[in-house]
Amino acid sequence: MPISDHVATAVQEAVAEARARIASACVRGGHGQQVTLVAVTKTHGPEAVEAAWAAGVTDVGENKVQEAEAKMAQVSVPVRWHLIGHLQRNKVRHALRFSLIHGLDSERLAVALHEEAVKADATIEVLMQVNVSGEATKNGVSPAEVAPLAERLLALPHLRVRGVMTMAPFDAEERVVRTVFAGARDARTVLQRGGHPADWLSMGMSGDYEIAVEEGATHVRLGTVLFGSRS
Ligand SMILES: *Cc1c(COP(=O)(O)O)cnc(C)c1O
Repeated sequence: MPISDHVATAVQEAVAEARARIASACVRGGHGQQVTLVAVTKTHGPEAVEAAWAAGVTDVGENKVQEAEAKMAQVSVPVRWHLIGHLQRNKVRHALRFSLIHGLDSERLAVALHEEAVKADATIEVLMQVNVSGEATKNGVSPAEVAPLAERLLALPHLRVRGVMTMAPFDAEERVVRTVFAGARDARTVLQRGGHPADWLSMGMSGDYEIAVEEGATHVRLGTVLFGSRS
């Protein structure tokens, strides 16, 4: 699908601006991490994926399996697809189409994913979603559940637990947002101590990604700042 020059240029400029801000935030934060920019294309058409790729973005995030698969069928660029939303257990067979599942939030889901991985003789890479802020509206395990779940996940060798994903509260004070991101970093340490190859921290969206990078994010998930608002 051809993309218009206008869209391509706008996305290219937005990606450049985000990358510059990420680089500055890395310096301020001092964690020395590499940051992967995941372009969140949900609600936008396949041209958003193509525009992101044309701007040098290699990773794309979608929050719904069906919408993601429809887009996969419509684009020809070889991006890595990230599932950033909640995965229902009856959809686990689709997980193999994604390079990273950001929302692992229960042992039941882990067991179901593992079964699919075993069937396909594959390994599924996942992030444990942690609800650091404790908001009732957010998915994820509580910080106290991270260690016991990490222990049980060791029994599922076809899942690779690569780190933690979290979302900060919207419109909270910077101090609160920072505490949430630092809590996710602590949860990653718990996973590492529990024997998992957990190097990654997926945190930061359009409104708070610079703070997230300062706090050590390795994956930021950006929609609005790259593609405009999702009406
Ligand atoms: C939609 C979404 C994003 C992107 O949000 P923006 O504020 O538009 O950057 C990031 N992460 C998740 C989990 C999302 O659902």
